[in-house]
Amino acid sequence: NDGEVKDQEFKVGIDTTYPPFEYEENGTRKGIDIDLITEIAKKEGFKIKFEPMDFNGIIPAMQANQLDMAIAGMSITKDRKKVVDFSDPYFKAGATLVVSKKNNSIKSTDDLKGKSIAVKKGTTGAKIAEDLAKKYDAKVVQFNDSPSMFQEVANGSSDVLIEDYPVVAYAIAKKDLGLKIVGDRLNGDEYGMAVLKGKNETLLKSINKGLADLKKSGKYDEIVNKYLKK
Ligand code: GLN
Repeated sequence: NDGEVKDQEFKVGIDTTYPPFEYEENGTRKGIDIDLITEIAKKEGFKIKFEPMDFNGIIPAMQANQLDMAIAGMSITKDRKKVVDFSDPYFKAGATLVVSKKNNSIKSTDDLKGKSIAVKKGTTGAKIAEDLAKKYDAKVVQFNDSPSMFQEVANGSSDVLIEDYPVVAYAIAKKDLGLKIVGDRLNGDEYGMAVLKGKNETLLKSINKGLADLKKSGKYDEIVNKYLKK
């Protein structure tokens, strides 16, 4: 795949629903990830085709050559770097604990003894939950997408969930989900766009160049503010 990127079409893996990064509203695809990669593609002269899927399926789909790249609120991690190459970081996120509004007993990770923690499969949040579960004898319950996980805690089936702060803050601001954010940030995750390791150097270079251009021109801020400014 490592030729010219100009005029080529790339399949871009995105999470099924992950506002404000990727989501559908009135039949239109929206979000920071969507707008960023769309603008980068326009600048760099390549085409993109979005392929929404469960977050957990994205890296396997890249490895199976069903995707050329991914932009999915995906955190840059050491483990993932074994199989993908990341672009320069484009967003600082960080995971947080979230409980039902009615819950006043869980205020930090110290309160997780014997609790059930809802997570989304394959995420950095799921990894944190596994470690917390060992430490506090808690139970981890896995979901394929964020809305199901939110629902689980809102209806009291699980005690707490772990999600990236900007995602849950956005969801709560949009709609009363019966949820609230508690405690400190659990990691300092930064998002990167991913291509399959060692195979797409040209595409990655082009992505990084496009991203740098968007930052320089103010377009990056314009996109982020469009979704995150009150
Ligand atoms: N940032 C988290 C991760 O990379 C969650 C991503 C997501 O749920 N789309 O694991």
